[in-house]
Amino acid sequence: MKLKIAILPGDGIGPEVTREAVRILRSVGEDRGYDFQLTERLIGGAAIKETGTPLPESTLETCLKSDAVFLGAVGSPEFDGLSPEKRPEAGLLNLRKALGGFANLRPAICYDPILDCSPLKADVVKGANVLFVRELLGGIYFGEPRGFSGANRDAAYNTMRYSVEEIERVARIAFEAARSRRKKVTSVDKANVLETSQLWRQVVTLIAKEFREVQLEHMYVDACAMKLVTNPTSFDVVLTENLFGDILSDEAAVITGSLGMLASATLGGTVDLYEPVHGSAPDIAGKGIANPLGAIATAALLLRHSAGLEQEARDVEEAIRQVLDAGHRTADLMRGKTKYKANTSEMGSLVEHAVADMLDRRRAYHAV
Ligand code: NAD
Repeated sequence: MKLKIAILPGDGIGPEVTREAVRILRSVGEDRGYDFQLTERLIGGAAIKETGTPLPESTLETCLKSDAVFLGAVGSPEFDGLSPEKRPEAGLLNLRKALGGFANLRPAICYDPILDCSPLKADVVKGANVLFVRELLGGIYFGEPRGFSGANRDAAYNTMRYSVEEIERVARIAFEAARSRRKKVTSVDKANVLETSQLWRQVVTLIAKEFREVQLEHMYVDACAMKLVTNPTSFDVVLTENLFGDILSDEAAVITGSLGMLASATLGGTVDLYEPVHGSAPDIAGKGIANPLGAIATAALLLRHSAGLEQEARDVEEAIRQVLDAGHRTADLMRGKTKYKANTSEMGSLVEHAVADMLDRRRAYHAV
């Protein structure tokens, strides 16, 4: 199989963690006989320096002709003085708009070996593995009319709007994802107050009938906010609209222990976009100490959703667990009993070897 992947390392620690994710993609691709054609392009501050714009034409063109886009991170304090549309972050926002993905997937996984990194009690987060599916193009962030009113702009208003079609398409992605997980979708809304939520609940209930093997529960957003930190293991897939998803997925990040562990994928547009959740981390950029596991977990999402390599995606996730289990940690994960401090490329190499071992073992098993 051939897969064209645009690689946009970006700024700060973006290139450092992207290098490690690419290492994993290459090694899985070679092993499975997949022809991953990786094309690197500029975005963000790196692109401004070379071309004067945060999203050069050549970058956008490459992305639109690819099957998937992998982005490291953008942003740099040296451009802080520029107006918003000229800053590195505008490159990412315009790219997201151009690619048009409507479903943002964000797994929040608590890996056992780093239970102590979460501010929550170990017995609460142990075993937690929640996948957020957030609607990304609708809701109150985009609804019209919006604005200020009154002679002195002493009032303001926004509009939350959803159509049946917008809800249906994101709900299907959540149910599909639940099928290959623990087969449960929690749909989060505020149906006791909002009409958009009443429509949301009605449509999600109908879509659930297409996925009989998946259990559906509805939950109010306030109850969900509480349950995520008191009983996160009760969730499998959380499906929700734009605003609620923005807030809840950040809340759930506390389960994982470090921003450097979080992966994301934005699906449903012209081309799927994969990016770790963290930014360019200027405070640690260039030191070689960034945690690449969020970027590597993002590569696993790409294998799963764009390459159709579910088993290999699981192997990468399992390799992350094994490396942590063996006591290896980047600086952000260092706690009391930590044994081995690894830098960014050591961590990438450890995961690569663990993945290779798993692929070898499976090949040997199938050979007998
Ligand atoms: P940030 O995510 O870059 O960093 C927040 C904190 O987390 C920092 O202390 C950083 O060192 C740490 N951190 C982040 N990723 C890490 C990793 N992989 N390993 C170890 N530690 C890690 O957020 P910020 O400081 O608010 O923003 C810095 C720049 O990044 C800004 O210009 C911002 O606009 C941009 N940004 C970009 C994206 C993106 O590209 N998707 C997302 C958020 C912020």
